[in-house]
Amino acid sequence: MIIIHYGEIGLKGKNRRIFEEILIKNIREAIGNEIINIYREYGRIVIEEKKNANYKKIKDRLSLIPGIENFSFAFPANLDIEEIKKKTLEIARKEKFNSFKIVAKRSNKNFPHTSMKINEIVGREIKEKMNKKVDLENPEMEIFIEVGNKKAYLYKEKLNGIGGLPAGSQGKVISLLSGGIDSPVASFLIMKRGCKVVFVHFYNENLIDEPKKVEEIIKRLTNIQLKSDAYFIPFSDAQSEIIRYTPSKYRMLVYRRVMTMIANRIAEKEKAKAIVTGDSIGQVASQTIENLRCIYEASSLPILAPLVGMNKREIVNMAKILQTYEISIKPYEDCCSFMVARHPVTKASMEEIKKIETSINMEKIIEDALKKAIRKSYITNNFFI
Ligand code: ATP
Ligand code: MG
Repeated sequence: MIIIHYGEIGLKGKNRRIFEEILIKNIREAIGNEIINIYREYGRIVIEEKKNANYKKIKDRLSLIPGIENFSFAFPANLDIEEIKKKTLEIARKEKFNSFKIVAKRSNKNFPHTSMKINEIVGREIKEKMNKKVDLENPEMEIFIEVGNKKAYLYKEKLNGIGGLPAGSQGKVISLLSGGIDSPVASFLIMKRGCKVVFVHFYNENLIDEPKKVEEIIKRLTNIQLKSDAYFIPFSDAQSEIIRYTPSKYRMLVYRRVMTMIANRIAEKEKAKAIVTGDSIGQVASQTIENLRCIYEASSLPILAPLVGMNKREIVNMAKILQTYEISIKPYEDCCSFMVARHPVTKASMEEIKKIETSINMEKIIEDALKKAIRKSYITNNFFI
């Protein structure tokens, strides 16, 4: 059996039920083929897996599902202290260790022995039958015993999940996804908080045939939220228009404002409530506070930038764990090199930008982009191995 513990959902009071249901639905979606039954039991989720279940797949999948704090592969025992004793001993006999600790947790208060008492009884059994030492501080092996209302569950190891809230338990957001390192990490952090992320990517169709690399990133991230929708927007005409009418030092800002405006329009269609970006303060010229202010001014929805306070190294480390890093560092030109100025403005003035934008047909750029946008959907089980 598999025992799943969730952290934050437990704090949700009256809404806890709703969060648990969403988490169960997500788990079913991820490993439905491997399981027979899934249910709640006293603040945990219990799964009965199939006899020939693929444990590696189950482990890989559960470790990416938001809302799961940790999970364990467990042996069930009937609610009988003699059976619990016997089965725990069987587990211990398969292991090599000198010192050990029993960690019992009695959620079912009808079970006649307290947690302390279970520790004592089972601990004594292993100590005497196997001649091993109890060490509460630094044990070489731990065995956990959880007493639920149907069964007791015995296991040795808690495997880490990513925590957070179940995907789809919060609102929908639009994430501006480039081919770079940062925006996939930003998207992940927002997903981990339970939001459904819809991706929007702009690319220069004269420089790249198909944004395959960004698709790869989206597939990785879909392992976390299980289903994704994405918009790919061919943007070379818009880039040329911006380059033609904007002094080089302002180009990147106008470009990002246009992307932000389009993201807002897609948000309207998708009923999304915020825009996500991979900005980190001061990392590049467009990310000074002054410039971010000018970019974000183009958005009527709130902008969520979860990396604002992170250092590049921290972001890179997270991208490596997520396995988006290797994809992100592959060469990719989503944007014309004329967009990147040698001396970009670092303290843009809003008036200057507004003046520039009067000479650009913004509404036409936005309408064209929306017309050309290609919407695609992804389902994790179609490519997760
Ligand atoms: P990243 O690694 O995410 O590309 P960055 O540090 O390279 O970030 P920029 O390239 O200036 O910084 O991009 C800042 C943010 O703007 C990105 O994190 C992303 O949210 C958005 N963005 C940039 N380019 C694109 C694009 N082609 N399509 C969609 N969003 C983009
Ligand atoms: Mg970038």
